[in-house]
Amino acid sequence: MRVVVVGGGIAGLTTAIEASEHHDVVLVTKGSLGESTSQHAQGGVAVVLDEAARPGVEDSVAAHVGDTLSAGAGLVDRAAAEAVCGGGVAAISDLVRWGTRFDRVEGRLALGLEAAHSAPRILHADGDATGAEIVRALVTRLRTTPVDVQERTFVTDLVTSDGVVGGVTVVGAGGGLPRTLTADVVVLATGGAGQLYAHTTNPVGATGDGLALAMRAGAVVSDLEMYQFHPTRLAVPGGELISEAVRGEGAVLRDARGHRFMRGVHPDAELAPRDVVAREIARVMGEQDGEPVRLDATALGAEFLARRFPGLDARCRAHGMRWDEEPVPVTPAAHYFMGGVRTDLDGRTTLPGLYAVGEVACTGLHGANRLASNSLLEGAVMARRCVAALDTPAAVPWDGEPIPYAVAPRVPGAEPVDRSRLQATMWTAAGLVRDGETLSAAAAELAGWGVAADGTTESYEDAHLLDVARAVVMAALAREESRGAHFRTDYPARDAAFDRHLSWVRKGGPL
Ligand SMILES: Cc1cc2nc3c(=O)[nH]c(=O)nc-3n(C[C@H](O)[C@H](O)[C@H](O)COP(=O)(O)OP(=O)(O)OC[C@H]3O[C@@H](n4cnc5c(N)ncnc54)[C@H](O)[C@@H]3O)c2cc1C
Repeated sequence: MRVVVVGGGIAGLTTAIEASEHHDVVLVTKGSLGESTSQHAQGGVAVVLDEAARPGVEDSVAAHVGDTLSAGAGLVDRAAAEAVCGGGVAAISDLVRWGTRFDRVEGRLALGLEAAHSAPRILHADGDATGAEIVRALVTRLRTTPVDVQERTFVTDLVTSDGVVGGVTVVGAGGGLPRTLTADVVVLATGGAGQLYAHTTNPVGATGDGLALAMRAGAVVSDLEMYQFHPTRLAVPGGELISEAVRGEGAVLRDARGHRFMRGVHPDAELAPRDVVAREIARVMGEQDGEPVRLDATALGAEFLARRFPGLDARCRAHGMRWDEEPVPVTPAAHYFMGGVRTDLDGRTTLPGLYAVGEVACTGLHGANRLASNSLLEGAVMARRCVAALDTPAAVPWDGEPIPYAVAPRVPGAEPVDRSRLQATMWTAAGLVRDGETLSAAAAELAGWGVAADGTTESYEDAHLLDVARAVVMAALAREESRGAHFRTDYPARDAAFDRHLSWVRKGGPL
């Protein structure tokens, strides 16, 4: 079978390595191999391993599933949580077998604690460079397989016939004439869409491409209103994410007066679920005329910070800050897309021939709020499950009721999308705090824009961002309640009528 994998992050690399044992595999990626969000992951991978068991530390897969369910605010599919948390041991063993060097203490795997986890179960590498180490190992391993790697190759479209996906259309990094790669199966592993927002922790390539391609082709998509904002990104131009693990180790948040404001908000204080911490920071910033809050890690000491978080330590210094000596300014930023292409627990989408794994997919694992360090795990586990199911590429039977919506046509000759304006609109209207009026105004504004697909990869990315932005706003308007990452001031309470995924499909069905 010929398998085209789109994406070179943890999900795509793992899929390609696993699939190459039985199939002809082409891996297409728009940057150089390994260039991805995965590469930037810091905190680690959540997993319950027998090998890591410690006397006096109670942990189990059931506890990990329970934490995932609680964080997801009633929208996590238990079966997805059981499959992913339960699949962790095998997936992590593969990563280790392929050369990933997780940090160890006295020969045993070191375990970190992160927000909303009931036990320390976060494997990390090089302190705070977990993603870089995993991607390094996977790229090295991939190079030993017969996979045909096509770097700087951008997928612009899925090739479909009567609703069956049979390949992709690609252009080179500089644009140019499209060519077709035919396939028996296409696996989307294209990651998230942080570039929808003015403030994000994601790299520039996170432009929602795979989601937009799948939506246009008629795949069912779910939970698009659920975008997680990370509470703590360094509040300087180009500032990096400051991992939850720093708060897990004891750093605290303070307002402009030095008051530790999270203590009065949630019993877990700084380690409350991400949405709670992020919204409270945004509220406090509002009261301080937008001035960032401070992350105070000074009690951890210079030696510990440099050893446990060497990358962050170096980056703080590069921005002229000594976080061991004084609190550093932080702000929330768009971080992780819980929504995506709806799949079953083997990565099958509703379109025959199309699979999706990693952040581009919505398996139902994250619900309304992702538990920290569950996404690298999901990428690795779902890639394995997807490859095991490639021989049975029937479309997943869809037993929900996806809401039909009109996919806007591309408008030749239209004004190019102003990406900064799109990002500002999304930040204001579909960010941490939403309301019907602002969302409706954003929907009208975005509906008025066209897309000049002029053949450059940037213009395709703009087109994809516009498609996804419209869909996020549509979904945020439809969910008339507040839950997890989705907070509406006009519907501030959770409503049992919305104890379900909102799923969407293009009007008229698949192409
Ligand atoms: C700063 C930061 C820190 C994080 N820390 C953690 C953490 O500690 N633990 C955790 O579990 N999660 C963490 N996350 C989230 C996690 O890193 C991502 O969810 C995960 O890496 C996504 O992996 P992926 O393989 O699905 O996608 P990605 O790693 O984003 O890879 C997508 C790939 O698809 C390619 N691609 C996209 N579009 C196209 C196209 N049109 N044509 C061809 N190729 C395309 C991209 O170039 C890229 O190679 C973090 C995220 C960020 C931003």
